[in-house]
Amino acid sequence: MNPINHLRDYIEQLKKEGSIRTDLPPRKEERFYNPAIETLPRDKIEAIRDSHICYMVKWAYEKSEFYRRLWDEKGIKPSDINCYEDLEKLPIWRRDSILKDQKDNPPYGTRVANDLLPYINKLHKSVESSGTRVLLPWTLEEWSIFLQEVWGRAFWICGWRPGGVYIVHVPLEKGDTSDSLTMLSLKRLGILTYAEDYVGFMRNREDAINFTSLLKTNFKPVCTLLSPNFFLKLGHQFERIGVDSPFDIVNVKGKAITPKMRQEIAALHKKAMLNYVYETTELILFPECSWSAERGLSQIHEPEDLYVSESADPETGKKVCQGKRGELVVTSLFHHTMPLIRFGTEDVIPNKWTTEPCGCGITHKRWLAPVIGSVKNIFKVRGKEFLPWDVELIIADIPSTTMVYQLILDDWDMDTLKLKVETFRDLPNQDYEREVKKILEEKLGVPVDLELVPSRTIPVYPGSFKFENVVDVRGRR
Ligand SMILES: [Zn+2]
Repeated sequence: MNPINHLRDYIEQLKKEGSIRTDLPPRKEERFYNPAIETLPRDKIEAIRDSHICYMVKWAYEKSEFYRRLWDEKGIKPSDINCYEDLEKLPIWRRDSILKDQKDNPPYGTRVANDLLPYINKLHKSVESSGTRVLLPWTLEEWSIFLQEVWGRAFWICGWRPGGVYIVHVPLEKGDTSDSLTMLSLKRLGILTYAEDYVGFMRNREDAINFTSLLKTNFKPVCTLLSPNFFLKLGHQFERIGVDSPFDIVNVKGKAITPKMRQEIAALHKKAMLNYVYETTELILFPECSWSAERGLSQIHEPEDLYVSESADPETGKKVCQGKRGELVVTSLFHHTMPLIRFGTEDVIPNKWTTEPCGCGITHKRWLAPVIGSVKNIFKVRGKEFLPWDVELIIADIPSTTMVYQLILDDWDMDTLKLKVETFRDLPNQDYEREVKKILEEKLGVPVDLELVPSRTIPVYPGSFKFENVVDVRGRR
């Protein structure tokens, strides 16, 4: 059979099983984006999930040289993988191996299913923090699943509905499809996209804010998707101009936010519901539902018929014990051109999840804790392991801080934790410094070499809204 027909047949099967909803857009009052699949009983979800896993592993082995080589080296055959639990027999691979593969075998590397190359409809370039890019070719068929289901379900879970408006604040980067994907997906949902900076006809900030406020008279919900620090910045602008934040829903992208950050954002965007959304570089989404958001729980949903994940030990590749921290490892059940099987995201997620139905009604797996940082930022002080997240949680309890901080990692096992914390107080202030140091040392249980710095001292990474929270000069191990 022609390989594209395999993919097309698979999509037909997804439609029959209910994984792809075909009567779009959903009506505003519908509770679920895709009730046929999102509320299935557990045994049915697992049966669909496992059959998709078997199919994708077989596809990847037959069509992708990268996986064939990787799995042959370990002596594993597709027939060894029959269910979700078996996935951990397969090795984890990460960004570095695909960057090398694309460099050695340009332009796509050996992960690509060559048979599908004539059918490529979209070239996505994922942006890497190192400045390099991974090229991701997709066919129209895969692209449609993104638009129709992956993103549709995620936005619906967050409370976005037809008749609403999505305000884009970040300029679109050439070649990056993430934002244009959002827009196309929202079009199908019947949601208007208004790109504030992108259109750029309102150079005056005050006019722009007033116009955004006007939009709320005709559109509901008013939604946006940003980094937490940008939400604070935006909220302060509204405050200065003296208008209420127009947002009904604010989605925070990136890593998890501390309860304190949630409070701060909520104080500035009073009406808004705040959902946390985790996105992998290959555009797989883990959204927090409205039920969790209303309770400030940061629990995230995983649509197990389309992709599955594990919290695994980065060294052994095996799942970590319940409750322990591991690397988030993702397997896609629909990527055919660039199969994605046991991709190590290098992000840390505690292995806490449930398959009990959520308060929102969805019956798929739900992570009870969010992604809390990056594996590469794990550091040790006197033998004790930490993530920047652990420090961030405590900084949130310190009075008068901007909550912006910077860790300096200069040894693989440090004697003291070197830390800069921004404050609104006048400096120097020895009493305050003693107080802050005491809080940090008591809660972290290690000595802290603290430097208090004035607000706006710690820089953001060029071209982003992310603060340079970690300066890592530890060198290679
Ligand atoms: Zn839920």
